[in-house]
Amino acid sequence: MDKQAKPDNNTKEHIHTRHIILIPVILVFIFVAVMVVNTSRLTYNVAVLNSGSVIEDRIKNVSSLVENHLNTAENVLQITADSVQHMLISGSTPARIHEFLVEESNNVSEQFGENYFGIYGYVMSKYMDGLNWEPPADYDPKTRDWYIVAKESNGEVAIVPPYYDAQTGSMIISVCRMLSDRQNILSMDVHLDGIQEMAKELTINGKGYGFIMDETGFVIAHTDPENNGKYIDVTTEGTELLEGIKKTGSGTFVTTYENDKSTVYVNGIMNGWYVVMVVSNSELYWEVTRQLLFNAFICFMVFIMIASLYYVAHRNERAYTKQMEEMKLEEQKAAYERKVLELEKDAADASNKAKSDFLANMSHEIRTPMNAIIGMDEMILRESGDPKITKYANNIQSAGKTLLSIVNDILDLSKIESGKMELIPSEYDFASVLNDIVNMTKNKANEKGLRYELNASQDIPSVMYGDEIRIRQIILNVVNNAIKYTAAGKVAIDISFDPENNELKIVVSDTGFGIKQEDLEKLFDSFQRLDETKNRNIEGTGLGLNITKRLAEMMGGSISVESEYGKGSVFSVTVIQKVVDAAPIGNYTERLEKADEKKEDYKPMLVAPNAKVLIVDDNEMNLEVISELMSDTKIRIKTAISGQECLNMVRRERFDIVFLDQMMPGLSGIQTLLTIRRENLCGDTPIIVLTADAIVGAKDAYIREGFADYLSKPVIYSNLEALLVKYLDDSLILSRDQIEAEERKAAEKAAVSGTDAEDKPVVLVINKSPEKLKELKEVLSARYKGVFVKDEAAAEKYLSKHEVEFIIRDGKDA
Ligand code: ADP
Repeated sequence: MDKQAKPDNNTKEHIHTRHIILIPVILVFIFVAVMVVNTSRLTYNVAVLNSGSVIEDRIKNVSSLVENHLNTAENVLQITADSVQHMLISGSTPARIHEFLVEESNNVSEQFGENYFGIYGYVMSKYMDGLNWEPPADYDPKTRDWYIVAKESNGEVAIVPPYYDAQTGSMIISVCRMLSDRQNILSMDVHLDGIQEMAKELTINGKGYGFIMDETGFVIAHTDPENNGKYIDVTTEGTELLEGIKKTGSGTFVTTYENDKSTVYVNGIMNGWYVVMVVSNSELYWEVTRQLLFNAFICFMVFIMIASLYYVAHRNERAYTKQMEEMKLEEQKAAYERKVLELEKDAADASNKAKSDFLANMSHEIRTPMNAIIGMDEMILRESGDPKITKYANNIQSAGKTLLSIVNDILDLSKIESGKMELIPSEYDFASVLNDIVNMTKNKANEKGLRYELNASQDIPSVMYGDEIRIRQIILNVVNNAIKYTAAGKVAIDISFDPENNELKIVVSDTGFGIKQEDLEKLFDSFQRLDETKNRNIEGTGLGLNITKRLAEMMGGSISVESEYGKGSVFSVTVIQKVVDAAPIGNYTERLEKADEKKEDYKPMLVAPNAKVLIVDDNEMNLEVISELMSDTKIRIKTAISGQECLNMVRRERFDIVFLDQMMPGLSGIQTLLTIRRENLCGDTPIIVLTADAIVGAKDAYIREGFADYLSKPVIYSNLEALLVKYLDDSLILSRDQIEAEERKAAEKAAVSGTDAEDKPVVLVINKSPEKLKELKEVLSARYKGVFVKDEAAAEKYLSKHEVEFIIRDGKDA
């Protein structure tokens, strides 16, 4: 489901971003377009207005030029007419008036140019010409237009409609006036070539055309002179034009001429003349349209550019988003994988935990019966005089211890593999470690007839900080191997310390079987036993070196080996240990040798007949084993089968030490301890936990709970004795002299009892249980004298000198 939903979301998101990008693009475009349209409209209007006013100006200009032109002619004629009028009144002769007209004609053309010429008239009933033109004989001035128009104008200056002078090719008009005497008439011809020049001005940059016409539509001057002298209404369009011009008078109108809309600018001037300009709209506005198109093009280009920029940006963003999405996806994938790994790890951890819990439990389960087996076997060894049984019991002992060490190894390995192996560092005496090593290995070597050498460098710091138990385990593993895999020769242990690197170095060399070159690399693998045929009879699991290597590495060190097959091996182990007290341990080897010499004739023995110890365990056999182990110490031992019974007993009497089993039905060891402490039932009596729990760190956990110490099952007598020595008050422990004195006293007592006056028959009791002895003593005391010995050997010794009535073994008579 999730997988499908994801692309949908992406597409939606993608469409959403596209919209977000499109909106500004469209807005920018609309903005630019509105701006361009507005600007264009403004430009267009300004341009239209401009061209309109330019044209109007032009027309007005031309109009005033034309009017000036005609006004000049009218003024000249007016002045000349007034002068002739005056001459007539003053009685001037016709010759004189003719002479005046000639003079004036010359003056006018001199002053105003060649466009104005020839003042002539009908004066004193005869035709007079300032240019001295001789009219033909049939010439009748009264029939001429100028004469007729002047007469009709009633003394006003009038203009005779233009006519085309075929002779000069020029357009000519005549300006005429009747004098106040209403008889005489003067006229002057004016060339319209000047006006033609003016008409040429009626275009805008060569666009459109213009003309000057009279009210009949006769073209006086046209920008194209070809049209001069024609009537504009010769075509349909011309008729419309003429009508429009006349209707408009002055102003503009639009007409469709030759399928093209044109604007016509008209200005009516004097005499019903019109100055007209016709401009085709398309031509007029072409410039503006071109500008508009250019603007639109620029707008379009701007849009394209913006759109492209947006597109590129969008594409980049998409690529970036895609990249980000991919990265996110990768991250999600990695997170998912991490999660899966975590889950797998959790599952593996859980399974490992289950495994190590199982192993821990199993180890406990195995160690509890093993405790009974080894303990009972120990009892058989002590009590049995039968060499065969002793041999079997010895075999059980050795097999049991081997099984125990295998269980311990497997437990260690499972701890290491589940990463739960923890080092528990504390301060420790290095000499005591050496002591333990020697105690636990030297005899084995000697038993095999091997020379055992320990060379501990004198400058090894006396107190170090590290995991003492694991250091001991490392050294023991390598030394035990050297002893195991050496048939003859020697085992040497060299120990030194490098203060610069805080490195403790243990080198164990032997003259044993050696290891084949090809086997060296698998030496440290777990469950690897080499040279199986040769080593078949040597006990081992192939775990020791693997554990040793891992432990050394956990301590920042390493293990290496050099070996020659058939000659021997050298194992070197290094570990880093902090120095607490750098005072050197001194010559340990010498001390060891001296101690060895002493041991020959003195075997230390703990005897404390005044001490009272309580042992609590739900397993009767365990109680028996531990009690028996302590029998030589003469300590008064009481036992309890449960936590509750223990509480009852400690309420009743005081003990010097309580050994309390942890795993018990009902009240557990810890619960019992807590009740004792809470109710302060036995003061500061040390309570030592008894447990088959061999898990690393268990000891510290128990001590944290309030136990004074820890004794692991199967109980090894040396460990038990060490605890007794440690926790019993010195005053309770007999010195060597006291022991000898006690022994003497007992012997004397025995001798005395042998010559007892009562002469009671003697019963020899062979039993180790103090409880039983006490019981029997009470039963026998009435009739018999009881002699109590702890084993067969003592019984034999006694029997060789004394007579007895009967012997009781384990409560049974013999
Ligand atoms: P094991 O319980 O078999 O002794 P280890 O892991 O301690 O297991 O040793 C693995 C193998 O290495 C042994 O089975 C033995 O073949 C070989 N080995 C170990 N130490 C020595 C030695 N000092 N001399 C010869 N072979 C050795």
